[in-house]
Amino acid sequence: MNRCHQCGGKFGLIRHHYLRHPFCSRRCIELFKEPVISELLRYKKALFGQKSISEPKELKQGGDQIR
Ligand SMILES: [Zn+2]
Repeated sequence: MNRCHQCGGKFGLIRHHYLRHPFCSRRCIELFKEPVISELLRYKKALFGQKSISEPKELKQGGDQIR
């Protein structure tokens, strides 16, 4: 792999690495990181959301039958 992981462009003199992926510039790293981080946050939110939904003993007793 001799191409930037983000934009697919060839490298110049400087090569950056992030998570073992090669990037042609820091900008590409930022672009690469952004969706990953937002995806992670969404995943975490979903996990926490599911956790609080899967064990809501008080809610179950309260008769929450929306789903
Ligand atoms: Zn690039």
